[in-house]
Amino acid sequence: MVPRTWSQLRSCAQLERWREDREGFIVVLDDPTVSHFHHPRCGDVVEQHFETKMASGWSTGAYYWIDDMSQAAGYASACGSCGGRAPA
Ligand SMILES: [Zn+2]
Repeated sequence: MVPRTWSQLRSCAQLERWREDREGFIVVLDDPTVSHFHHPRCGDVVEQHFETKMASGWSTGAYYWIDDMSQAAGYASACGSCGGRAPA
């Protein structure tokens, strides 16, 4: 279960479009690894990994969009690479 404020990203087209057009953060819920949230353009958000999870019917984790990093509290911590900030 995830908070109702989260929007699951369900296609590569949606992932690409939202990364370009929106202000917010991407939460990658990963099992069994620790979950992180990222700036939308963080290099650690890899489309190929998204496709792999999609192909497995999201059984190994999923990608969500949140508008504010406070919405990740208790579920995911900031990515070690981007810390939720825009890449340089
Ligand atoms: Zn990141």
